[in-house]
Amino acid sequence: HTPDTAHGAHAVGTVAFGAPSEALIRLEHVNKHFGEFQALKDIDLAIPRGQVAIVLGPSGSGKSTLCRTINRLETIDDDGGRILIGGQPLPTEGKGLARLRAEVGMVFQSFNLFAHKSILENVTLGPIRVKGKKKAEAERHAMELLERVGVAPQAKKMPAQLSGGQQQRVAIARALAMEPQALLFDEPTSALDPEMVQEVLDVMVQLAQEGMTMVVVTHEMGFARKAGDRVIFMADGAVLEDTDPESFFTAPQHERAKDFLGKIL
Ligand code: ADP
Ligand code: MG
Repeated sequence: HTPDTAHGAHAVGTVAFGAPSEALIRLEHVNKHFGEFQALKDIDLAIPRGQVAIVLGPSGSGKSTLCRTINRLETIDDDGGRILIGGQPLPTEGKGLARLRAEVGMVFQSFNLFAHKSILENVTLGPIRVKGKKKAEAERHAMELLERVGVAPQAKKMPAQLSGGQQQRVAIARALAMEPQALLFDEPTSALDPEMVQEVLDVMVQLAQEGMTMVVVTHEMGFARKAGDRVIFMADGAVLEDTDPESFFTAPQHERAKDFLGKIL
């Protein structure tokens, strides 16, 4: 058996990633129960590198659970299903888990910044603690990222001193600081005042254009049409439609999808 790295695949940390043709994120027969309740039903998905996959669906359809299982914030049922990142099965614990989790960043609805750390510290903490970066190097990179998302002047402030839109842009910078292979966004603009939604979406569009692999749960249909390569429509824990945005918005197939679009558009 020849190691993957022998044919041009790249290694990140000690996690060897598969051939470039390998889907970056792959779910095979993934089920997830909470007690008796089944939140995910036999999910099969392959997200190639560079794809922006929009996840849509009514409340309670399993969108957050899907993101959380990909990032291993939730376990999946132990019934043969699996999740692979770069061709590697997700480890269940230990250093391997921390490393693989670092490969897939997550941005939540409620920005989840560390309230008692400055903006700069929020962005440098992970790289220093998890990736073992030197403080000066972490700060240099963090400032670059804060510049990129337009909040560099706020670097010395505390999260509460920033607007919601600014905090969410910091959360994106913090996720990027870990140099992830992919980013998951779970309704990143849902908790924002309307006038702050666009500044966050602009950063996401920019990332999409730069080729970042993204899974985005959102109700922002303008963003979905503009930046999305694919729409995954979920209802009751199952994927009902998986198609390109134009087809989904102009010709949804399932009644549930038609009903959903009727309510949201
Ligand atoms: P969505 O993000 O699409 O609104 P979720 O993934 O949050 O949906 O939830 C899907 C279903 O799973 C919901 O019915 C929710 O109540 C249930 N659920 C989610 N997390 C838990 C949990 N930790 N314990 C029990 N039920 C849960
Ligand atoms: Mg949700």
